[in-house]
Amino acid sequence: MSTPPSPRLFGLRSRFLAAMGAGLLLVAALVAALLWRQHVLQQAASTLGRDAVQQMARDTLTLRGNANVRQLADALANPLYFNDLDAIGNLVRAARQPDVGYVLVYDAQGRILHDGSIDIDAYGEPMRDALAPAVLASDQLLVQWLPDVMDVSQPISVGNQRLGGVRVGYSLAVVQANQDRAVASLQNRLTSIARNQLVWIVAMLLVLAVVALCMGWYVQRVLVAPIRQLAAAARAISHGEYVVSLPDNTRKDEVGDLVRAFNDMSDSIARHDRDVRLLAYTDALTGLTNRLAFREGLDNRLRLLRGTGHELALLFADIDDFKRVNDTLGHEAGDEVLVQFASRIRVAVQELGGNDALLARFGGDEFVILVQRAGEKTGNVRETAEDLAQRLVTELSRPLQVQGRELFLGTSVGITMFPEDAANGAALMKNGDIAMYQAKAAGKNCFRFYSHAMNQSVERRVQMEQELRGAWERGELHVVYQPIYDLRERTLCGAEALLRWKHPILGEVPPSLFVDVAEQSGLIESIGANVLRSACATASGWNAKRLRGAPLFVSVNLSPRQLRDQRLPEAVAEVLSDSGLAPSNLHLELTETAVIGDEASASKLLEGVRRLGAKVWLDDFGTGFSGLSYLRRVPVDGVKIDRSYVADIQHDPDDLALTAAIIAMAHSLGIITVAEGVENEEQFKLLLHSDCDLAQGYWLSQPLSAEEFARLV
Ligand code: C2E
Ligand code: MG
Ligand code: MG
Repeated sequence: MSTPPSPRLFGLRSRFLAAMGAGLLLVAALVAALLWRQHVLQQAASTLGRDAVQQMARDTLTLRGNANVRQLADALANPLYFNDLDAIGNLVRAARQPDVGYVLVYDAQGRILHDGSIDIDAYGEPMRDALAPAVLASDQLLVQWLPDVMDVSQPISVGNQRLGGVRVGYSLAVVQANQDRAVASLQNRLTSIARNQLVWIVAMLLVLAVVALCMGWYVQRVLVAPIRQLAAAARAISHGEYVVSLPDNTRKDEVGDLVRAFNDMSDSIARHDRDVRLLAYTDALTGLTNRLAFREGLDNRLRLLRGTGHELALLFADIDDFKRVNDTLGHEAGDEVLVQFASRIRVAVQELGGNDALLARFGGDEFVILVQRAGEKTGNVRETAEDLAQRLVTELSRPLQVQGRELFLGTSVGITMFPEDAANGAALMKNGDIAMYQAKAAGKNCFRFYSHAMNQSVERRVQMEQELRGAWERGELHVVYQPIYDLRERTLCGAEALLRWKHPILGEVPPSLFVDVAEQSGLIESIGANVLRSACATASGWNAKRLRGAPLFVSVNLSPRQLRDQRLPEAVAEVLSDSGLAPSNLHLELTETAVIGDEASASKLLEGVRRLGAKVWLDDFGTGFSGLSYLRRVPVDGVKIDRSYVADIQHDPDDLALTAAIIAMAHSLGIITVAEGVENEEQFKLLLHSDCDLAQGYWLSQPLSAEEFARLV
C-alpha cells in the first residue's frame, strides 16, 4: 500500500517561489531604506538651502543697508548741524525705499528729530525701544537684528562733536518672502528628482517580479511537473497499474535521464510482476489455476453476484486413495495420474461448465470447479453442477495408463451452492470440503451435495475425538480376539486383537468409525500402546493355562502413526518382558500404506522388532499397489490377503488366480499367508486348495471377548 501524496505545502515550486518572494521583499526593503535616506538628504538639503539663501539675503541687505546708512549719515551731517528740519525731512523721505520700515534721525541726547513724517509727532521724544541703548552707546556703524527688522545706525559727528545719528529699520518680511520662494523652488526640484527616482525603482522591482514569475514558471515546467508526473506514476505502479503516462523522455538533460531510468525500472517491475503472477497463480504441474488465483476469482464472482439472485456452484473433486498411488508407485507416477486427471477434468468442464467456469488444482489431489451456467432442463445451476459431477465420476473411474500399468482410481465430488449454502468464499470452500468428505464416507467414487446435516457430521467427528479422550481409562475401550486357524490342521493357532468402543450413549462403535479419528488426533499412540499391553498380557495368560499343543500367538494391529515412533522396538520389548509372552507369539500387523510412507525408517523399525523375535505381518495385502515384488524389499514374516479377494474367489477366477499367485510367491520367499474374511466353507476349501496357511473369518469364528476366547482355549 503506497502513501497518498501529501498536500504540496512545501513543494519544489512553492519553495522556489517563496525564495524568490523573500528575495523580492529584501530588495523592496533595501529600496525603502534608500528612499528614506533620500528623503532625509532632501530634508537636509532644503534646510541647508534655506539657511544659505537666508544668509545670502541678509549679507546683501547688510551691505546695502550699511552703504545706504553711511551715505545718508554723510548727507545729514550739514542739515543736522544747522538744525535744518526741512532738509533732514527731504533726505529722510528720499531714504524710504519699499523695504525700509522706519528712518529715525536723533540728536546727541537720543531724542527724535525727524522720522520722515510731515507733523513729526514724535519730535523731541527719546528713543525708548529695546535697541536704543546700544545705538546711543555705539560710536560707529551698528547693525542690530530683531526677528522682523534689521536696524542699522550710524552716529553723526562734526569734528569731535557728536551731533546725533541716524537709524534705518529694514523690514525682513520681503527678504523672508524671497527666501521662501527660493526654498520652495529648490524643494520642488528635489521632489521631482525623487519622484523620478521612485518611478525607476518601482519599474525595476516590477521587472524583478516578472523575472521571478517567469523563473517560477520555468522551474514548474522543466522540473516540478515532470517530477510530479513521475511520483504519480510511481504511486500507480505501486498499486499494480503498470500502464502509466510518463513525461517526455527525449530530453537531453538530467530529468530526461531520470525519466528514461524510471521507464526501464517500471518495465522491469511489470515484467517481474507478470512472471511472479504466472508463478503465483498457476499450478506448475497441471498448468491449471491454483488455489490463490481461484480464491481471488471466486471472491470477485461473489461480489458481482451478491444480491442479484444468481446462483453459483463449487465442485470439490478429490481422487480416491491417491496417497496409495504416491506411496506404492512413487511420486512420478502420482504426478502422471494428476496430469491425466487434470486433462480429463478440463475436457468435462469445457463441455458442461460453460465459458465462465473456473477450474483449479488446490495442491495434492484436489480439484475445484466453479460453474455458473444454468441447466437446460430446470434452468438452475444446480442441474449443471450435478451433470458435471456425474460426468467427472464416470470419466475419472475409467482406467488410467501409468508407467505401463493400468490403474483404476475413483473420484469423490462434493458440491456446494451459493447463495443457498453460504454467502462467502471461506464458508463455501469449507462446505465443499465437507460435502467431498461425505462423498468419501458414502463409499467413494460418487458425488454429494452439501447439506447442513453434513456440517453436523463433521461436528460429531470433533465431538467423538473429545469423547475418545480418556475412554480407555474410563473402561469404555476393550479388546476382542478373533481366532485364527491353521487351514491344513484345522486347529486354533492364535487370535487377532481387535479394538472395541462401548460408547455410554451410542453403544458399540465400530473401529472403522473411530480408529481414523484416533489416528488423526494422535490419540492412537496411547490407545495403541494399551491394546498391545493388554493383548500380550491376555495371550500370555492363555499359554500359561494351555496344556496341549503349540502355544498361541496374538496378532496386534499397528497404526501408521505408531510405526513412525522411533521407540517402537523398545516399547515392544518392554511389553513382552512385562507380560512374559514369548516374542515369537507376538505378531504385529501393518498396512502397506503405513510402511511405505517412509520406507527406510519403517524397515529399520521393523527390523528392530523382528530382532526381538516378534513377527511382522502385512495386513490388507492386495488393496494397495505394491506388487508382489514389494515383498522382497520389506522385512515381513506374513501377509494377510485382504477379504475383498477372499469374498470374490468363488465367483471370480481372476481373484482366485491372484490369490494363488500371492500365496505361491509368498511361500517362495519364506513368508506365510493368512486369509481374512472367510465367511463360508467354499472359500475355506478354495484357500486350502491354494495352499494358504492360516485363516480367520466369521465362518470360523466371530471376534470373542477375552473370557470367551479363554474358554475356547
Ligand atoms: P483388520 O485389521 O483388517 O481387521 C479385520 C477386520 O475384519 C475386523 O473388523 C474384523 O472384525 C473383520 N472380520 C473378520 N472376519 C470377517 C468376516 O468373515 N467377514 C467380514 N466382513 N469381516 C470380518 P473390525 O474389528 O471392525 O476392525 C476394522 C479395522 O480396524 C481393522 O481391520 C484394523 O485395521 C482396525 N483396528 C481394529 N483394532 C485396531 C487396533 O487395536 N489398533 C489399530 N491401529 N487398528 C485397529
Ligand atoms: Mg488386522
Ligand atoms: Mg485386514
